[in-house]
Amino acid sequence: MMQRTLFRRGALLAQKAAVEVSLLPMSAPLQPRLDRAMSSVTIPPPECMLRPLEVPFRYLFGPGPSNVPPRILAAGGRAIIGHLHPEMYEIMNDIKKGIQYAFQTQNNMTIAMSGSGHAAMECAIFNTVEPGESVLVAVNGIWGERVAEIAERMGANVHIMVKAPGGIFSNEEIEKALAKHKPVLFFLTHGESSAGLAHPVDGIGDLCRKHNTLFLVDTVASLGASPIFMDQQNIDILYTGSQKALNAPPGTAPISFNERACQKMFNRKTKPVSYLFDMAHLSNYWGNDGQPARLYHHTGPVSGFFSLRESLAILAEKGLEESWRHHREVAGYLWKGLEDMGIKLFIQNKDLRLPSVTTIVIPEGYNWREMLQYMMKHHNMEMTGGLGPSTGMVSVRGMLKFYLIAYT
Ligand code: PMP
Repeated sequence: MMQRTLFRRGALLAQKAAVEVSLLPMSAPLQPRLDRAMSSVTIPPPECMLRPLEVPFRYLFGPGPSNVPPRILAAGGRAIIGHLHPEMYEIMNDIKKGIQYAFQTQNNMTIAMSGSGHAAMECAIFNTVEPGESVLVAVNGIWGERVAEIAERMGANVHIMVKAPGGIFSNEEIEKALAKHKPVLFFLTHGESSAGLAHPVDGIGDLCRKHNTLFLVDTVASLGASPIFMDQQNIDILYTGSQKALNAPPGTAPISFNERACQKMFNRKTKPVSYLFDMAHLSNYWGNDGQPARLYHHTGPVSGFFSLRESLAILAEKGLEESWRHHREVAGYLWKGLEDMGIKLFIQNKDLRLPSVTTIVIPEGYNWREMLQYMMKHHNMEMTGGLGPSTGMVSVRGMLKFYLIAYT
């Protein structure tokens, strides 16, 4: 009884405070400023924080983030609920189904990381590799370089196969390296955004099985734009990001592990180096471990998950095949227009071009930084230069699912 009265009194007080705050005059910030003159803090509030947030509109034609359609923005603006509320679990269950569709997999161990594409990269490696184990990485742009560094940092014995940016590794070359280095994991980027390449994947999963190696594929820049079939292509671990062809804000990253990958990661001798990215905990948080209770591990990005769910819902409504076709069609239009202007595309073979990211060879006598600055200043358009090994070689222009790029 006593407790109930206390609760009621507390609720009334909170209500009264809310009404009082809502009645404050527009010039309210002045009063706190006067109060602060007498306060004990020695660091004053920064001037910038007393000004309103300003965000310009930009055409985001770099390789990510992409412009976010209003429907997805609106989903992210919904009221926050608790990260452990049953409704949130339902939304996470929906996200898992949406990812299974987007990846074309039936894997139970499918989740979205609280973090960007790098979180998924680190999660994949930290969980499936133990210090001292051999890892093989295909490097033909920045993403292989990055994965090799992540694996090296956690103590793996890293071997790299290197090609110039945009180069293709043949299945024969891959098999030779698998036989030589006997890695527990082989990494390949499907959509190499720093080169604009869609690397063929067929047959590599089978080779990895033959050599008892897990096959890890990065589709951060390609998922939804270029076909990938996780189960059919025998990919053991697949990840992507939210902010590219999925058109959601950055900050969440779908990832999926098949049975082979689970066998390896849940039978480790050592604990993964990261607590936040430990799949033993994350699988429980996502309700994948068969336990009756989903326990607190970390506070997931609630708004980010709302947006991700909406972007996966749009993909499901549109259909994967239509999304692939649409990207291909829009990219074809851009490629033709660029070639008609006399601009050379970096990836010469049309079939190997990434439909979501188009790269051009910087024309003779032009400074790529000046070109990008010009586009931004005069057209409000973001394009980017190459990254890592392709810096200075190419300019990268991302393609969006919902906006046709009309270049001028
Ligand atoms: N892989 C690829 C192919 C990418 O294009 C990117 C982002 N440009 C990443 C990984 C890293 O993703 P994030 O920036 O979201 O961490």
